[in-house]
Amino acid sequence: MPTERTLVLLKPDAVARRLAGPILTRFEQKGLRIAALKLIQVTPELAKRHYAEHVQKPFYPMLESFITAGPTVALVLEGKSAISVVRGMMGPTNGRDAAPGTIRGDYGTSRQMNLVHGSDGPEAAAKEIAIYFQPHEVVDATEPLAPWLSAGD
Ligand code: GDP
Ligand code: MG
Repeated sequence: MPTERTLVLLKPDAVARRLAGPILTRFEQKGLRIAALKLIQVTPELAKRHYAEHVQKPFYPMLESFITAGPTVALVLEGKSAISVVRGMMGPTNGRDAAPGTIRGDYGTSRQMNLVHGSDGPEAAAKEIAIYFQPHEVVDATEPLAPWLSAGD
């Protein structure tokens, strides 16, 4: 179980609906460490870099206007298997398919406005962290509580 870093976005719908705090709280309560955090306005250029795999898809224009519609909270979360832990906490893409107890399942019924982004693998995480953060913005820290939050196997 490697310690991983993952890129998380609290998308414009989460910020507009005042859900950034509650969603961030869920990640913190799980024991993930905030390694970087900022409020940004995603530009069309940034959206195209982040969502390169979707740019040719029919829904991309809608996705770009959504993700650029208002402020987004970008963060790097760190922890054991953080990438899959975050994806599990988010739930599947469509809020209507997401189980209660997941972020998308608890807060939304949309496929597009689904509140959060989390990297889907180690390669995506490295790429996305580099898109949103300069190396010096990601803060290393050893935490005294770490053994109590994720000890053992
Ligand atoms: P994710 O990894 O669960 O975020 O989902 P994807 O990588 O498949 O899609 C990226 C984002 O594009 C999603 O989180 C949604 O915000 C949006 N999206 C995905 N599929 C659709 C779609 O069919 N229609 C629209 N309008 N947006 C979509
Ligand atoms: Mg994806």
